[in-house]
Amino acid sequence: MEAWKLISKKLEPFQYTVWTEFTPLAIKYNAVNLGQGFPAFKCPEFAKQALIDATNSDENQYSRSQGYLPLCQELARVYSSKYNREINPLTEIAVTIGASEGIMCALLGMVNPGDEVVMIEPCFDLYIPQTAIFGGIPVGVPLTPPTPGENQWTLDFDRLEAAFNERTRVFMINTPHNPIGKVFTRQEIEKIAEILEKWPNVCIISDEVYEYITYDGREHISIANFGNLWDRTVVFGSAGKIFSVTGWKTGWAIGGADAIKKITTAHMWNTYCSNTVAQGAIARMLRIADEPYIGFPNYYEWMKNEYTRKREILHNLLKNATKIGVDPIIPEGGYFMCARVNPSLIESSYLENTTYDFAFCRWMTEKLGVCAIPCSAFYLDHHKQDGENLVRFALCKDYKDYEAAEKLLS
Ligand code: GLN
Repeated sequence: MEAWKLISKKLEPFQYTVWTEFTPLAIKYNAVNLGQGFPAFKCPEFAKQALIDATNSDENQYSRSQGYLPLCQELARVYSSKYNREINPLTEIAVTIGASEGIMCALLGMVNPGDEVVMIEPCFDLYIPQTAIFGGIPVGVPLTPPTPGENQWTLDFDRLEAAFNERTRVFMINTPHNPIGKVFTRQEIEKIAEILEKWPNVCIISDEVYEYITYDGREHISIANFGNLWDRTVVFGSAGKIFSVTGWKTGWAIGGADAIKKITTAHMWNTYCSNTVAQGAIARMLRIADEPYIGFPNYYEWMKNEYTRKREILHNLLKNATKIGVDPIIPEGGYFMCARVNPSLIESSYLENTTYDFAFCRWMTEKLGVCAIPCSAFYLDHHKQDGENLVRFALCKDYKDYEAAEKLLS
């Protein structure tokens, strides 16, 4: 091959994602897409109106690189009250092109070649390439899956502690968790924080984009508020997840000023700033979200109630899905439900050169018309077998999608 055709060595190992395979596959087979996590329903009317209002007030030019000031001020208000501390809108907030770009900027600003990044597995797939692209070494600490009939994934704290050493530069946590829906409890976060206190040079990336989606009265707890961790922690949030506008690609980080500066420095050379009109709209939306909404005390309670209903529907659907015989694990938060798959169901042609979960998802999309995501995609190469018997279904789809899936799978 001519040399110019070669992709850079940094990107060479990372030319595949499940998202670019499975969403087109679902479209090709006209399948019900319970795979990629984007809402299949409309965003709230107040979001559309806020975007119109921001456009009409001509908020259309580059914003301040770190974030459009009206949005930073609203975020400071929201999170100061959540975290019970005064957050400085100028220095303790960064607005990015979704949490994905924000995490990339955080890793660019934190990781030197050879540094180790400890992450809890499974983990959202992009943590792994984003770490490796900057020369970091991902170190996975797998969670222990629930035994059949149980729903709780557990963290082995000795194993976590053993993952840290002088080369560890970053620790990454995600709660509520994608893909498994674990919500770390106060006791768990406390124990993790105790380990982190022993490693004062480690920065913390806490992905909390599903912060408002917890079930059965569970509390969302952020590690940023434990001990002295605030200064070296960046916490990610996402307007896409909160307001069902994933295509607006607007997220943010809050955290200690020195930690946030690593993100804003990288972001300044990457896109310079995020989309101003979306930022202007989101500033308005964060105010409206606190007001009573369709019979609920606020928008967040309405949203939680919607996902709680869909969790129930999807759980029943999967329990009764006789054509696939899966064993669903009930999530504690977030917008996904994982299920253990029956290892002897599908045609052997699907099993060549791949793991069972991938074969299963391709088969289910093509033959039954329902798409899900294989969970080995959320593990490092040497731990992929841990995810091979699991597939992930999205909770963020429309009621009619679950009705259709029920007919196709039972
Ligand atoms: N967060 C979404 C999911 O887990 C996917 C995001 C993406 O497509 N990169 O499904």
